[in-house]
Amino acid sequence: MANEFDLIARYFSRPAPVGFLGVGDDCALLPSTRPGFQLATSTDLLVEGRHFFADVDPHALGHKALAVNLSDLSAMGATPLACLLSLSLPTADPDWLEAFSNGFYALAQESGCPLVGGDTTRSVSGVTVGVTVFGEIEVGKALLRSAAQPGDDIWVSGTLGAPDIALRLLQKTLPADAALLAATRSALERPRPPLALGQSLAGVAHAALDISDGLLQDLGHILKASRCGAQINYSDLPVDPALAGLPSLVQQQAVLGGGDVYQLCFTAPVAQREYIMSRGRESSVRVTRIGQIMAQAGLLIKGEDGSPIVPPVLGFDHFS
Ligand code: ADP
Ligand code: MG
Repeated sequence: MANEFDLIARYFSRPAPVGFLGVGDDCALLPSTRPGFQLATSTDLLVEGRHFFADVDPHALGHKALAVNLSDLSAMGATPLACLLSLSLPTADPDWLEAFSNGFYALAQESGCPLVGGDTTRSVSGVTVGVTVFGEIEVGKALLRSAAQPGDDIWVSGTLGAPDIALRLLQKTLPADAALLAATRSALERPRPPLALGQSLAGVAHAALDISDGLLQDLGHILKASRCGAQINYSDLPVDPALAGLPSLVQQQAVLGGGDVYQLCFTAPVAQREYIMSRGRESSVRVTRIGQIMAQAGLLIKGEDGSPIVPPVLGFDHFS
C-alpha cells in the first residue's frame, strides 16, 4: 500500500448518496432537518505512542482530542453543535480521568460543543481517544478543498513550525533546549483552532483545510482537489517567533513539513483582503498571505533570494 491516502481512496471512497459530501474533505456534509443548513461531521483518533506520549498531561490530552476535531469544523466554516467521545483505556486511573475530562469539558464549554455521548472500553495496551464532532453550516457556504481558483490569494492563520519543534525536542531528535521547549510546547499540546475565523470565512473564502500533516502536504490536497497549482514565498510565511534562533534548515523543515498545527490554510479572492484582515483582528488570530493559486499544476516555493526551495520533507503520512 503506497500511503494512507491511497488506502482510503482504494477501500473507503465508495460514492456517498446524492446530497451528501462524502470522503475527501475535512468534514462530511449531510442533509439537515434545519431548513437552509447542512450538518458537518468529522472524526479523529489519537493513539498513545503515535499521537501522544504515554506520560502526556491528561488535561492537555483531553483538550487536544477535542481541538483536533473542532479544527476540521473550522476548516469547513462550520459552527459546532455537539461531540461524542470514545475511550479505550488499559486502567481506570481516577486522577488521570479527572484531569482528562476537565481538559475536554473546558474546551467543549468554551467552543459551544457539548459532549452528548460516546463509548468506553478496556484496552489491551495503551490509551486510544476517538472524538466525533457535529456542526452546521449554511447550504452552499462550506469551504471545500476543491474550490480554489487561479488568482486566489493563499492565506495561513496563526503561526507555523512551533508544534513540530516541540515534538522533536520531546522525541530528542533535536538537542535538549528547555527554553525552546517552554516556548513551543503549548502549540503542540494545546492547539487552538480558529473557529470564529473559520465561520467568518464561510461563503467568502474559496478553498480551506486545517494544517494537520504539514503546510506543503496539506496545501497539496487543495491543489489536487482544485486541479490547480500554487506559488508561495518562503519569506512571507508566518514562522513562529520561538523558532528565530534555529538553523535555517531546521526552521524550514518545521515550517513547511511540520504537522499538528491545527490552523487554517485557505484561498480567497483578492477582493476579500481587507475583510479577511479585519476578521483576523476581530478574532485575535494572525492571518498572513503567503502566495497565489496558479492555473498550472505544481507547487513552487520561492526562497528569500528568489530561487526555488526544494523541500526536504513533505509532511506526515501514517503508512509510508
Ligand atoms: P483530516 O486530516 O482532515 O482529518 P484525513 O487526511 O485524516 O483528514 O482523511 C482524509 C479524508 O479521508 C477525510 O475526508 C476523512 O473523512 C476520510 N477518511 C479517513 N479514513 C477513513 C476511513 N477509514 N473510512 C472512510 N473515510 C475515511
Ligand atoms: Mg482536516
